[in-house]
Amino acid sequence: MLQLNDKTFEIFIPKEDIQAEISSLAAKLEQDYAGKEVVFIAVLNGAFMFAADLMKNFRNPCEITFVKVSSYQGMHSSGRVDEVIGLNTSIKDKHVIIIEDIVDTGITMEKLFTLLSGEKPASLEIVTLLYKPEAFKGKHTPTYIGFSIPNKFVVGYGLDYNELGRNTEHIYQLKGEVSR
Ligand code: 5GP
Ligand code: MG
Ligand code: MG
Repeated sequence: MLQLNDKTFEIFIPKEDIQAEISSLAAKLEQDYAGKEVVFIAVLNGAFMFAADLMKNFRNPCEITFVKVSSYQGMHSSGRVDEVIGLNTSIKDKHVIIIEDIVDTGITMEKLFTLLSGEKPASLEIVTLLYKPEAFKGKHTPTYIGFSIPNKFVVGYGLDYNELGRNTEHIYQLKGEVSR
């Protein structure tokens, strides 16, 4: 159980399941990108924990850098996406993999794709730990997906509820909403 301000959350995806999924995602990426110059771009703040664990499992030589965007406040998407901040690595002719915590409406992902495509990478894909197919409004589904989940608010393992709850090993849902 996790109490954050007025809300009570309960475990939705336990840490063991998260770690097992990350190790298989990393194995798949190692295979698909063998021999290629890879730059991971992790999207802060939410993806910081996923990025760290993914990198510990991905053993090919690679670069990693971090950017910031924001489109979410409280428990509802604001539908607004700020600019990408902090990309100071050249990604031209490199194989870029965006690391996201969650793809919800897909607005953030689309925006990142548009902005990063302009830098002429050799390829551009996304790995997301979580994906909400029912909320998704984008054109292309993410290439690498950890867990497809129902359209309900989740928190923990990097994801926040009003900036709280990022510092947990499990992923939580509102109490009473867990359905898996
Ligand atoms: P988008 O709607 O653009 O796909 O998602 C934008 C951002 O909203 C995500 O990167 C994530 O930070 C946040 N977000 C989307 N769904 C959830 C959720 O269920 N819980 C939390 N904590 N953040 C979410
Ligand atoms: Mg995010
Ligand atoms: Mg947030």
